[in-house]
Order: sequence, then C-alpha cells, then structure tokens
Amino acid sequence: MKSIREECGVVGVLGHPDAASMVYLGLFAQQHRGQEGCGLVSLELDAASGEPKFNAHKSFGLVAESFNPSILSELKGDSAVGHVRYSTQGGHIIQNVQPFYFRTSLGPLAIAHNGNLTNAAAIRQELEQSGSVFQSTSDSEIFVHLLARAEAPTILERIFTVMAKVNGAYSMVIQSQSRLFAVRDACGFRPLVLGKRQNSWMVASETCALDLMDATFVREIQPGEVVEISSEGITSHFPLPKRQTAFCSFEPIYFARPDSHIFGDEIYSLRRRMGRVLAEEAPAPDADIVIAVPDSGVPMAVGFSEGSGLPFELGLVRNHYVGRTFIQPAQEIRDFGVRLKLNPVLSVLKGKSVVVVDDSIVRGTTSAKIIRMIKQAGAKRIHMRIGSPPITYSCFYGVDTPERGKLLAAQKDVEAIRSYIGCDSLAYLSINGLRQVLGDTEPGRFCTACFNGNYPEAVHAKISSQPTDAKGPGIRAGI
Ligand code: AMP
Repeated sequence: MKSIREECGVVGVLGHPDAASMVYLGLFAQQHRGQEGCGLVSLELDAASGEPKFNAHKSFGLVAESFNPSILSELKGDSAVGHVRYSTQGGHIIQNVQPFYFRTSLGPLAIAHNGNLTNAAAIRQELEQSGSVFQSTSDSEIFVHLLARAEAPTILERIFTVMAKVNGAYSMVIQSQSRLFAVRDACGFRPLVLGKRQNSWMVASETCALDLMDATFVREIQPGEVVEISSEGITSHFPLPKRQTAFCSFEPIYFARPDSHIFGDEIYSLRRRMGRVLAEEAPAPDADIVIAVPDSGVPMAVGFSEGSGLPFELGLVRNHYVGRTFIQPAQEIRDFGVRLKLNPVLSVLKGKSVVVVDDSIVRGTTSAKIIRMIKQAGAKRIHMRIGSPPITYSCFYGVDTPERGKLLAAQKDVEAIRSYIGCDSLAYLSINGLRQVLGDTEPGRFCTACFNGNYPEAVHAKISSQPTDAKGPGIRAGI
C-alpha cells in the first residue's frame, strides 16, 4: 500500500464545558496546515448510563464551511480533539479524515496525528497479516491498531509501547475517557504546543491556535515527550532514549503561520531574517524595488528590503477567496491557476528592475508563471530570490514534496533553473545561511534532508525507488 504524504494540524482540549467549540477555533486558526478535510471528535458521558460516548463530525473542505452552530451543539463533552488535513492524490477518501475514534479493552480513544511514519508500510503489513482490518489508507490508522492491540495495562503504557515501534514523524493528540495525551516523536519533526485557559488545557500544532482559543502559551511539548493531561493537572513522561532533534526546517520557511511561535522562535522573525541573509548573500545591485510572492514570501521580502535598502512594494495582489474546487470556465486563459490567485499591480512594476522574493521552488511551475506575469506587467528586469536552499530531496516526515524526479532542483542546476523559469538572475538562500538564521550549529537541531539528503532516519526503501544522483542520499550519522 503506497503511503500518503500528509500535511496536517491537530488540536486537543480537556476540561472545557464546550470543548468542541474551542477545538473548532483551533482548527480554524490552523486551516493553512490542511484544506482537504477536517474533523472533530468530542467525548461525552451519557447522562442516563454514565457511559462514555463519542460525538463526531468529519467532512471534506474548509473548517468554516464544514461546521455550523447546529453541528457544534451536537458535539457535546468537555474534551475533544480535532484535525485538519491535506494529502496528495490517492488519499481523497472520507475514511482518511481524522480524528480516528475507536473502542479498546481500556475504553474509548480518539487520535489526531500530524506527520508521516517511515516504517508504516512494514507495520501495516505485519498488522494485516495478523488479522487487522484497515479502514483508511492513512499512516495514522496504524496508531489505532497498535494502541488497541498493545498488551500494556494502561493507555499511557500502551502509548510508550507504540512509540518504541513506530519511526518517523508524529505530533499527536490522543483522547481517552479521562485524559488527553500530547505525544511528540523523539526527533520533534513537527511542532506541538501546550496552552491553558482557566481550568482547561489546550494542545495544538501551532501557537496561533492557542491565541484564537484565548489560551495562554505554557510551553512546547518536548521531542520524545508524552504529556498526560487530566483534571488533576499535567504529568510529563519521556519513554524513549534521548536523541538528536530534527525540527523540520520547512515549518519556519513555509508551512507554519508567521504569527506562531514554534521550535523556540517566532516564525515571522525567522522569515524576516532569512530575507536579510539572502540580501547579504545574493544582492541585486541594479534593482529598484523588492516585491513578494504573497503570502508566504512577504516576511522574507520585508527582510530582503531591510538588508538591501531597496523599497518594499506590493507588486502582486493575492485573491484569498479561491477555493480548491474552483472550475476553469474558459480553457484558453493562460496560467489560469496562478492568475486566479495573483494579479500584478502595473504602476509598481512597469519599467522597473524588480527583486521577486518567494519562499521556495518545488516543481518550478508557479515561479515560471509568476515571472511571465511580472514581465507582461512591464518589468524591465526580474531577479528571483528564494528564501530557502534548493529543494533536492523528497520529505518523508510530513511535508508534501513530490518524488525526486519532479523536484526541479534535483534535475537542474541554478543556471538551468533560471533559464527554465525565465528570470534575469536567480539565487537561493544557502544552507549555511538558513542554519545561521535558525541558530543551528553542528550536529544540527533541524532536519535539512529536503536540501541535502541528510535524512535523520533511514528511509532507504522509499528513496531507492526514485531517481537518485551519483551521491545518493546520506543518512545522518550517529543518531
Ligand atoms: P512549484 O515550484 O510550482 O511547485 O510551487 C512552489 C510554491 O508552492 C512555493 O512558492 C511555495 O509557496 C508553495 N509550496 C511549497 N511547498 C509547498 C507544499 N508542501 N504544499 C503546498 N505549497 C507549497
């Protein structure tokens, strides 16, 4: 079974009389982490029998469109978990929409997971051979089966057993009848934060979710940590041997919201510094202005402007209301997808030599279209500056990058990419520049596998099926 790469956001709330509404807010704030589908599961004690009962709602589409007051009012209970997801093709079935909820010999459990497991295929095969029946194609369902089948006498110990078995990235919330568990893998690939509001506890992928839930940021869940939350308070556990962390460097570059604090830093400040360092490393002496590809390139363009002394202008305007299902009514419109989202401001661009800052180039199709659009708007020269190093390897830890064969920088050098996307000059932030911004010194707290192939965990089986270069992927030693 081909595993699906998923980008996701999670939320968990315990001890709030309207936990579902809180989770809804947390999901809404994290909509950027996944737009394909969303789900919310609350746990309620049945008034008559006292038995725990799940209330669930899952749907394709955006959070604001998937829930309404009547649905939320049905999701009773003082604890709830939620999930937003995006997945690559092949994963578009409702069974893949989380949270997953199920009953075990130790009672009800609901889980929401962000990340990708690197040994999912092997574990799934093993489970299927011994009788497990899977309902989804998602890696995350493995947790359901492992938690249900583990022999340990408590949920906490079962979580420890499962953590010892799975490899790869997992930041997740697990809800039991009386507890909420926040669980993060030992590398800490994906973020997970803890917040508090009066007597309730909140867990989320990013702090922007805590802000909307009106919760105070307490701290990040540590790599390898299980935080057990109950009405009595929180207890911290570290069941795995400590290892070198591997925070995803693509979270600060692109994925997380700029107003979030994760991995110990504010994302906006990091992106701004990436832009500053990029301006030092790759100035564009003949440029008149700096513009961003909105929204993700904006903080980096602000930084580039500061670093270079060039004025920052709004050269491209983004239409924020493009849903995923927008149809193309007229086939002959060129670059329709990009034009739907972005449009140039003519007076800003006409006759100018322009620095265009974007966060990354993946396949290169977007950049080529944007450059064509800026040229048509009358720009004299275009200097493309990218706030991340060239992406040359796929991610196996939860960022949706295509296979290597489709990564432009895995196939072409910088000059060939410049010529392909059609700009006058092109430069990327160096890996050293990135690490300088992230405050990352050897052996490195961050995962940079997508830039240099130094995968912190062995993922040989998957990589070998892709075109490789002469060097081949490296496995980071000593961890
Ligand atoms: P392209 O080079 O055409 O594949 O698109 C690159 C653009 O997509 C960049 O400007 C990013 O802002 C955005 N991007 C980068 N990584 C991702 C991702 N994993 N999911 C969605 N969009 C992304």
